[in-house]
Amino acid sequence: MKPEEVFASLTAFQQALAGHFDWLHRWYQAVLNREEGARIPDPASIACPFDHWHRNAGDTPFAQFSGFAQLAVEHDEVHDKAAQLSGRAQAGLTVTTSDYETLMMSVLEFGATAQSVEREVWKVLATVDPLTGLANRQSMRSHLMGERDRSLRQKLPLALALADIDHFKKINDGFGHAQGDKVLRAVATVLKATVRPYDVVYRYGGEEFLLCLPGTNAENGALVLERIRAAIEALALSDERGTPIPVTATFGIAEINADLSVDDAIEQADRALYDGKLNGRNRVVIAP
Ligand code: GH3
Ligand code: MG
Ligand code: MG
Repeated sequence: MKPEEVFASLTAFQQALAGHFDWLHRWYQAVLNREEGARIPDPASIACPFDHWHRNAGDTPFAQFSGFAQLAVEHDEVHDKAAQLSGRAQAGLTVTTSDYETLMMSVLEFGATAQSVEREVWKVLATVDPLTGLANRQSMRSHLMGERDRSLRQKLPLALALADIDHFKKINDGFGHAQGDKVLRAVATVLKATVRPYDVVYRYGGEEFLLCLPGTNAENGALVLERIRAAIEALALSDERGTPIPVTATFGIAEINADLSVDDAIEQADRALYDGKLNGRNRVVIAP
């Protein structure tokens, strides 16, 4: 999920929700709070933007959140109940407190679902790095510890790797921060495109990335990193004037075992990476 797309769909949702509550207010004024003898409008004649939003949100990231389908069901229920009350009022029947409470129950239910979906969206946004769309460090440690437990239990290897862009300061200084950001996004894209679906890439720091490779030992992990290294070297980026921006990265990788904690493995990968920097950069080093 691209954070900016999630953010845009969140904004559209909030507007649709506000529109629904505006509809509810207008409906209340026209039906329940009307002047003596005033005509009761057909509830369908008072526009509510929520349905329109829901129909069009099906192919936005919003539709992937649980509760999305339920929102439409509960929204319909509010409108159905309101239509029933309008019908009663139009037929000259009294709208009782209990009728009104039935409607309010649906309104509250819908509001609660809307709130929980929104909370879910914010939770996702909080774990995504806005520049690269990669996971940030927010939930990294707990995820890595879980992966370590699982790998030890299932007796499967687990490799952790660090990647660090070479001479990134020079890229920033020579081409400007905006070009530096472009490089970061391009490297992130290579990383994400090269790993398997169940591997996770974190933006670990400014121009540092952490890769979690379950089911992979250090040697096989190094082969993956080598592919990534070559793809980054082959990026062929250039600035606005067409001047090539050379990009390479150095990698360190370590394999988790029963005696090696997540922090230890990251430290070993970091040391391997440092060796790679000392030995000329643009290379993959396996921790001894
Ligand atoms: P080395 O090859 O030894 O890794 O050298 P380096 O220049 O890459 O290393 P260093 O850690 O000194 O530089 C990292 C730079 O990354 C410094 C910082 O200004 C820059 N940086 C960190 N975050 C961002 C960001 O989000 N955008 C941009 N454009 N630059 C960033
Ligand atoms: Mg660095
Ligand atoms: Mg660097």
